[in-house]
Amino acid sequence: KSGFVAIVGRPNVGKSTLMNQVIGQKIAIMSDKPQTTRNKIHGVYTNNESQIVFLDTPGIHKRQSKLGDYMNSTALSTLGEVEAVLFLVDAAEGMGGGDRYIAEQLNNVKTPVILVLNKIDKLEPEALLPLMAEYRKLHDFAEIIPVSAKFGSNVNTLLDQLQKYL
Ligand code: GDP
Ligand code: MG
Repeated sequence: KSGFVAIVGRPNVGKSTLMNQVIGQKIAIMSDKPQTTRNKIHGVYTNNESQIVFLDTPGIHKRQSKLGDYMNSTALSTLGEVEAVLFLVDAAEGMGGGDRYIAEQLNNVKTPVILVLNKIDKLEPEALLPLMAEYRKLHDFAEIIPVSAKFGSNVNTLLDQLQKYL
């Protein structure tokens, strides 16, 4: 099994850290070369059964220009072509306007979206369920998976869950 997974999320939510964590576990190739005008491969994860190509998806940010609109539309068409989208948010910081904007954009694609609540090492455990409920109002997420990209907590669960979508 193999497939493409796009990663979206506002700056500093931990996208690079998550990739490093995944790549640190088992990685075949890592490249920063642009693959198309709108994507770059961040890493390819392989295990015995599967290969997952992770794509960094820039451009899905709030912008106020024609160029911004164009970038958003190309980013959105990418999201329509992958097997799954990982939407990373900073669980410790809580929901912000940037998250809401991205979630709104994701409502326009049919691809399953997995919400990744990152930085749970900084979160009070009892805050997790209310946070999940809050995010569920934004989008019908295929899965919601809390992780700590920095410490690697629950990252294996995320990789396991992704297999379903390949
Ligand atoms: P990106 O902009 O989305 O790629 O975010 P980065 O991966 O560069 O991370 C931004 C900051 O958040 C860095 O200082 C990371 O060390 C920190 N960070 C990322 N993941 C975690 C996490 O799970 N827990 C904590 N405590 N910090 C994290
Ligand atoms: Mg980054």
